[in-house]
Amino acid sequence: MLKIKKILLELLYPKSAKCCICGNTAREAVCSSCLTALEYLEGRVCLKCGKGLEEDYPDNTCPDCKGDHKHFELAFSCFSYKDRGKDIIHKLKYEGCRDAAYVLARLMYQKLRDENVSFQAVVPVPIHKSKLETRGFNQAGLIAERISQLSGTDFWDCLLRTKETTEQFKLDKIHRILNVHDAFCKNMMYNGVKYADIVLVDDVYTTGSTVNECSRILKQHGVQRIYVITAATGSNT
Ligand SMILES: [Zn+2]
Ligand SMILES: [Zn+2]
Repeated sequence: MLKIKKILLELLYPKSAKCCICGNTAREAVCSSCLTALEYLEGRVCLKCGKGLEEDYPDNTCPDCKGDHKHFELAFSCFSYKDRGKDIIHKLKYEGCRDAAYVLARLMYQKLRDENVSFQAVVPVPIHKSKLETRGFNQAGLIAERISQLSGTDFWDCLLRTKETTEQFKLDKIHRILNVHDAFCKNMMYNGVKYADIVLVDDVYTTGSTVNECSRILKQHGVQRIYVITAATGSNT
């Protein structure tokens, strides 16, 4: 009888988790005070890539976007890649705190709603097979899958990473472009499916070379409009 009572109580009041950042009791993988401490991108942002702008630029477009042709329509991000924001991404990617992906997905889905983005499918930026074997999961895949559940759209894991690339943050702009050039292809298992508007998901946006290259491939395969959503972005460089 006691056992049943215990099970019922656990069902009614599930044990609260610990915040993966500060260790405090939390309802999710990241507690509300750590989420409040994030530097949300709400003020001046680039109208193309969504990066925070520290100074005035003509047309509110950052120098990265001025020079390059972007294959995606627009990119949005939730918070700056620093302090607590950086900690969350690191916990997810390098310390296996998978549940942080669901917290990020919720923030990212909210951003897409705020921006009135309409889409039929969610595509993750893929990681290379060898990295998948070491890490055990693709963080962008976890986030994308949850966004597709929250939005009631399809999860479309249709890209493959064919080249193992150096981490983008270690490179300058030119090398970032070269690094990801021809690093992706479409997974042929997904032939025949067509979506007009998709959301492309990654964890961090730096110069946008990775998402731009993925967008190029998606467009080659018939996607008309690509909207990029990342959890965090570096400030303008
Ligand atoms: Zn916390
Ligand atoms: Zn920009």
